[in-house]
Amino acid sequence: MVEDDPLAGEAVAAASAEGGEWRIRVLLIEDDVVDRFAFDRFVRKEGLRYDHLMAASYQEAVELLEHRSFDVVLTDYHLGDGSALDILQLALDVPVVVITGAGDEEIAVQAMRAGAFDYLTKDTERRYLKMVQVTIENAQRHYLAARRERQLVQALKESEERYALAAAGANDGLWDWDLRSGHLYMSARWKSIAGYGEGELEPSLAAWLDLVHSEDLPLLQAQLDAHIAGQTPHFENEHRIRTSEGDWRWVQVRGLAVREPGGRAYRMAGSQRDVTDRRLAEEQLAHSALHDALTGLPNRVLFLDRLESALRRFQRRADRAFAVISFDLDRFKVVNDSLGHHAGDHLLRSLADRLRNCLRVGDTFARLGGDEFSVLLDEVVQLEEVEEVADRIQFALGSPFVVEGHEVFCGVSLGISMSAPSYQKAEDLLRDADSAMYQAKALGGTRKVVFRPDMHQSALAKLQIESELRRAIERRELRVHYQPLIDLHKGLVRGFEALVRWQHPERGLLYPGDFLGVAQEAGLTVAMGALVLGEACRTIKAWQDEAPESARYLSVSVNLDGQQLSSLDLKDQVQTALRESGLEPKYLRLEITEDLLVRQPRRAKEILEGLREQGVKIYLDDFGIGYSSLSQIQEFPIDVLKVDRNFVQRMTRDESAFEIVRTILMLAGNLGLETLAEGIERESHLESLLRLGCRYGQGYLFSPPLPPEEARLWALSAADRIVPGFGG
Ligand code: C2E
Ligand code: MG
Ligand code: MG
Repeated sequence: MVEDDPLAGEAVAAASAEGGEWRIRVLLIEDDVVDRFAFDRFVRKEGLRYDHLMAASYQEAVELLEHRSFDVVLTDYHLGDGSALDILQLALDVPVVVITGAGDEEIAVQAMRAGAFDYLTKDTERRYLKMVQVTIENAQRHYLAARRERQLVQALKESEERYALAAAGANDGLWDWDLRSGHLYMSARWKSIAGYGEGELEPSLAAWLDLVHSEDLPLLQAQLDAHIAGQTPHFENEHRIRTSEGDWRWVQVRGLAVREPGGRAYRMAGSQRDVTDRRLAEEQLAHSALHDALTGLPNRVLFLDRLESALRRFQRRADRAFAVISFDLDRFKVVNDSLGHHAGDHLLRSLADRLRNCLRVGDTFARLGGDEFSVLLDEVVQLEEVEEVADRIQFALGSPFVVEGHEVFCGVSLGISMSAPSYQKAEDLLRDADSAMYQAKALGGTRKVVFRPDMHQSALAKLQIESELRRAIERRELRVHYQPLIDLHKGLVRGFEALVRWQHPERGLLYPGDFLGVAQEAGLTVAMGALVLGEACRTIKAWQDEAPESARYLSVSVNLDGQQLSSLDLKDQVQTALRESGLEPKYLRLEITEDLLVRQPRRAKEILEGLREQGVKIYLDDFGIGYSSLSQIQEFPIDVLKVDRNFVQRMTRDESAFEIVRTILMLAGNLGLETLAEGIERESHLESLLRLGCRYGQGYLFSPPLPPEEARLWALSAADRIVPGFGG
């Protein structure tokens, strides 16, 4: 008995009602008192689990049958007031076994024809009673099975009717499969979903499965089998079927098996619904979750997913190598800022369209965000193949785009990473392609760079420096060194340039070239600059105070970078440094570079004028590199031009460098600016500069930048000529 079978018969329920014990309810109709007694004694003696009642006549039997339920009725053929045929006439819902005398086969046949379940002959008493027992139990078993089947069929019919009603409303098709005959009924609606008419399609499972998409077939088959085997409570599956037109529709199929008492399924029926619209909507949704709305290209999620699969394949088979090309536009921000976002979007769409055509079918071309794109090249063996694709991309983007009437040229920088056994995560390949791309940008853009492991190393190293630098600022590991600035005419020290150093706990003394770039990227130069400024002012003031005669007029130059210059509290920083040290403003010089003036001319002018009003002097550092012309410089409040050391060092060997220095010095003189030459390393540099009338200088010829204890000695003897025999 299946425990939770909703179709369980009421006979069984009643039979087991008493204390949950199974007892067959038997009615014996017997007019012979001796036979009744023998039956009763037999049941008790044998310990049979019967609930038995006995009727002595047809009339008594009718009364009992009216008021009580039985599972089996045994009736003697000949009753005083009727016969077994009268009992059979009652068309009871339980098996009726007829008892005849020995040799009364005729009568037995008659009874069987009238609907008796079985018959028994009164042989010897012992044998007769044994047969009674077997027959009763047989009858009971058969009765229950038959009844159960009737109930199942009834229930199915009812549920089918209910279902048919619901299905008609929901537009479902119905199917009914007889597992024994193999016949599969499909309703008209079922067939019409598949585009077939009433008489079409052979009524078999094979005909149905033949319509199913080959990709969906294995799961459908497995789920059908599982349900038939009783492993699942319901059957449900969604798959595609081929319509008579040859296109595909999605259907949802449900069903339920009808089982024999042993659990064996002999019939299965259910519904079929057309869910094509829903599936399309779902696919649309899935598509938009994995694609970029602007270009329709795969997005980062999908790209990483494909990259992951490529990596897994490669890990299984080393010959399935692949590559990632990442790129972005070198001037996208300019387009966005100058022409607007609308134009920017337009450009990205056109770019996507153009590139789609120059990639192979199996490659994944994705937009990862902003103007960042990536291509996954599946199954490439040689680096040359990848570089060829990169060149193709570059070539495709080489001709201008027309965006809202403007011709836009956009160079791309490409970074390439190739599959390697060391890769464990898809993200790492993307990260490395990005590193290579940044390298390409750093090299000036519009080029391709193939990733090498040391790029990652240098990126990591940068990160480490950054966090160490933050700590260095807190732990005051930064030092200031001082390089004497010399009045070349008089041969005297006039001041010092303050140059930052980092006393690294493990790596020793570090120079600005080792950490300034990282500090700028991490936005740390403002904090760093404040330290240097304060320290420099204090130190110079201390020297001035220590040796009033010689060091009284010494100045200090402090370098500023772009972040410091545009930081809002620069003015406060300067004021604080001056106030706290007590240094007179005219002894403080701030060094800025030309590029800062060119980048934000108006703002720079305003800031410099403000500083100048405080009494601070402004030096223009590294002049000559070529951002600005002297006439442009004129507009800014500048006191001293520092000639870049490259020109100084080349001027004695290189005619044109000499000419440049000569021109700078002459024009500066015309504009009323003082000049200071950097990087004086040799006597010959000094001689040339003196001949051209340069007033100030610094360089290894006199002294390298020095730690404060050593620089202090220079300050204290500032009144002494450093090179006897200097001019003036
Ligand atoms: P700079 O302002 O042009 O500083 C002069 C640089 O030239 C210094 O390099 C100095 O050591 C070097 N130098 C001096 N004399 C000679 C010479 O005869 N030959 C050669 N080849 N080099 C000489 P340093 O100290 O490595 O500083 C490099 C740059 O870092 C500085 O260039 C300056 O732009 C920047 N910097 C230094 N300290 C600071 C600071 O505190 N804040 C900011 N923002 N930048 C700083
Ligand atoms: Mg400088
Ligand atoms: Mg310089």
